[in-house]
Amino acid sequence: MRIAVGAFVFAAAVGLSAQAPSPVTAIRAGRLLDPDAGRILTNQIILIEGTKIREVGPNVAIPAGAQIIDLSRMTVMPGLVDAHNHLALTYKPEPESNIYYYTYVQESTALRAIQAVSNGIQMLSSGFTIVRDMGNNGNYADTALRQGIEQGWVPGPTIINSGIIIGGMGGQFSPTPEMAKDHNIVYPEYLDADTPDEIVKAIRQNILFGAKVIKICVDCKPYGYTADEIRLVIREAAKSGMKVEGHVQTVNGARNAIDAGIWSIAHSTGLNEEMHTLMAQKGIFRAGTDTPDTLAGHPVSPQAYQYNVASLKDAYAKKVPLTFSTDADYYVVGKTRGEVCMEFLKTWKDAGIPNVDILRAMTIGGYKVSQTESTRGPIKAGYFADLIAVPGNPLDEVDALKNVQFVMKDGQVFKKDGVMTPSAFFHGGPVNGWRIR
Ligand SMILES: [Zn+2]
Repeated sequence: MRIAVGAFVFAAAVGLSAQAPSPVTAIRAGRLLDPDAGRILTNQIILIEGTKIREVGPNVAIPAGAQIIDLSRMTVMPGLVDAHNHLALTYKPEPESNIYYYTYVQESTALRAIQAVSNGIQMLSSGFTIVRDMGNNGNYADTALRQGIEQGWVPGPTIINSGIIIGGMGGQFSPTPEMAKDHNIVYPEYLDADTPDEIVKAIRQNILFGAKVIKICVDCKPYGYTADEIRLVIREAAKSGMKVEGHVQTVNGARNAIDAGIWSIAHSTGLNEEMHTLMAQKGIFRAGTDTPDTLAGHPVSPQAYQYNVASLKDAYAKKVPLTFSTDADYYVVGKTRGEVCMEFLKTWKDAGIPNVDILRAMTIGGYKVSQTESTRGPIKAGYFADLIAVPGNPLDEVDALKNVQFVMKDGQVFKKDGVMTPSAFFHGGPVNGWRIR
C-alpha cells in the first residue's frame, strides 16, 4: 500500500487506518469503581471497540473473536489526572542544586523533550491517563510531547499543555541585567508580556505553537497583573476556546484572579479562607500542588506541611472544586515520576478528606479542569477507553492506587499484570495523521 512519493505516503497511511477493522476487546471487571456515584459494581463487562468504550454492564454480550482481558480479581476504574505537572522539566540536586533556572541553562529543549517522553511513560504506568502540563518546558517541548503521543509515535497520557508561561517581565526568574538583556536568558521559560498588546500577542504565540490552555504568572513579581489585565487574558484565550490557569502566590494575586473569573488557580500560598469561599462561589478550580513531607531530597518544613494540610482541609470544607495536582517536576531518587505524584496522597489523607472525594478529585475534578469530561475519563459508552486496575478497593484504602497493575489508553493495553507492554503504541510514522498539531 505504500506510495513512493513522499507527500502521498500520508494519504496512504490515513486510508489504511480508516479501512482497518477496529479490534474489539472485552474486559471482565471483578469490581468496577464509579467515583461519581462513589460505589463499586461487581462482575461487569466493558466492551471496547477501537479507541472507544462501546458498552458497559453485567450482561454485555461478548462478540465472537473479541480479545478477552480477565480483570475479575481487580478493581477497574477510570484513569487518573495530575492537573499540574511539568513533564519536560526534572530538576535535581546534581548538577543544578534543585534550582530549575540552571536546569534550563544546562539542558536543551530537545533533551528535555526526550525526558518528557520518559516522564509521560512513567506517569501512564502509575495510572495517570491525563496530565495538564503547565509550562516550564523550554521552547515548547510540551507541544512536541503532545503531538508525538497524539500522532501515535509513543505512549503517554493525554496532554493538556500550556506552552510558555506568560507573565510580567522576568516571569518567576530573577536574572541579572546582563543575563536578561544581553543573553535573553528568561526566554523561552517565560514569555514577557507587560502591556495589553504584549499580552494578546503572547497568548496568540502560545496558541500558534500548540498550547491547549493558557498559563499566566499572576503575581510572580510585585508588578503582577491586575484583575483587568487578567480579564484581557481570559477574553483573548476564550476566542480560541481556551481556559486560563493562574500561578498565584499572594492573597492580593488570588483576589485579582478570582475577581477576573479565572478558570483555575495553581498553588495554595495565596488561598486563605476568604479566597476559598470566593472560589467555591465562582466555581474556580483549585490546583493546590499540595506537597507532602515525605519526598527524599525535597524537604518541606513541618510548618509548611501543616499549612498545606490545613489549606486543603479548608478548601474541602468550603466545597472548592478540587483537583489532584502535584507540580512534581523534580527527581526523587528511587522513584518514577508517577510514584512521586502518588506520594501526594499523604497530604490528602492527612487533611482528612474521605477516600471517595480524593478519588473524585483525581478523576472527575481532573476531567473537568482539563475540559475532557464529555469525551474522556468516565467509563461510559462513547468515551475514549482509558482505564486502570488495582488490587484491593481504593474506596477503603486509597493507597491501593500505588499498585496500578493494568493500564489501557485509547483502547490499547499499556500495562498488564504490573508490567508495561507498550509495543502497540510505537509506530514508525504518524498513524493518527501528521495534521495533529
Ligand atoms: Zn508548576
